[in-house]
Amino acid sequence: MTTEMPTVPEEILSALRKHKRVLVAAHARPDPDAMGSSLAMAWTLRAIGVDALVFNEDGLPPFLRFLTLPGPVLSTPDSLPCEPDLVVCLDCGDRARLGDTLQPLLDRVPTVNIDHHLANPLFGTEANWVEPGMAATGELVAYIAKALSVPLQGALAEALYVAISADTGNFSYGNTTPGAMRLVADMLEDGLNLPKLRDAMENNWSEARLRLWGRIMQKVRILEDGKLAAALITLEDLASCHATREDSEGIVEQLRRLSGVRVALMLREEEKDGKVQVKASLRSSGKDNVQAVAAQFGGGGHRNAAGATIALDAEKALTVMQPYIRFVWNRLQ
Ligand code: 5GP
Ligand code: MN
Repeated sequence: MTTEMPTVPEEILSALRKHKRVLVAAHARPDPDAMGSSLAMAWTLRAIGVDALVFNEDGLPPFLRFLTLPGPVLSTPDSLPCEPDLVVCLDCGDRARLGDTLQPLLDRVPTVNIDHHLANPLFGTEANWVEPGMAATGELVAYIAKALSVPLQGALAEALYVAISADTGNFSYGNTTPGAMRLVADMLEDGLNLPKLRDAMENNWSEARLRLWGRIMQKVRILEDGKLAAALITLEDLASCHATREDSEGIVEQLRRLSGVRVALMLREEEKDGKVQVKASLRSSGKDNVQAVAAQFGGGGHRNAAGATIALDAEKALTVMQPYIRFVWNRLQ
């Protein structure tokens, strides 16, 4: 028996059809699902005759530069040619994740909120579609494109594949549903060039990234009798390898490979307004819930992948997080 395709809420489709100048935006520091779903949404809107522009506070990440774009990715609201009449918010567990610079516009313009995070407060003012059971926001956008009779082909299909592949850990996490696999199978049938796409996605490392990974792996801390593996990335680590924050993407997933590890943690320092803060990324498997840990620090995400930003340096953040992390396995025993 095949599981049924989810039905796209009518108010989502009518909001997308009725507005003429739409801004598509996703969370700052975009991951492949945030940016892939943004590009796919813009392609879809353009296909039905809607003037769509993509915004992201941090622009297009370098690792996705191979994708064909439906137009420039704007990174300041000032660069908008005119006021949009709708903002489509994608992959944002809450409104703040869209970034500081977009908040004034969100106060003025109607919003549609399309997402798959737990605890999304349904902040869209015109329509909301939140499905925590969906593998990726890209999956939701795929169903929207289908509902609007837009074929999942070409650059649209590539953006969707990137989104779904990343958020399912390349089709390996518990969120890898038959529906997600079926979408990819349909796109393959429609001409998606998988080997070319995967080559562009994977074989693109810089020397700086390789050096950073080597340095960080050397000093990973194995704590809590092997149940916690933590990678601390200081500003000094990044600077001495000439690495950017994107170069650390993927390290936390490697830590989960260690046998016996229940929680993998990456703490990457960054500077904001002259102060050090840390971006925390948490990963787990099965019933181990790291979303609950991230939520304690004002963040969120999914049961097995969550994050938060904490106003401490990496060392101090580890100290304050450790008791909450212990709770992940203690709660279950
Ligand atoms: P990552 O660790 O790769 O940045 O994020 C893992 C998951 O947690 C993603 O689904 C991401 O959207 C979510 N996430 C990361 N940081 C935050 C945060 O500060 N707030 C919320 N609500 N979710 C986050
Ligand atoms: Mn996502």
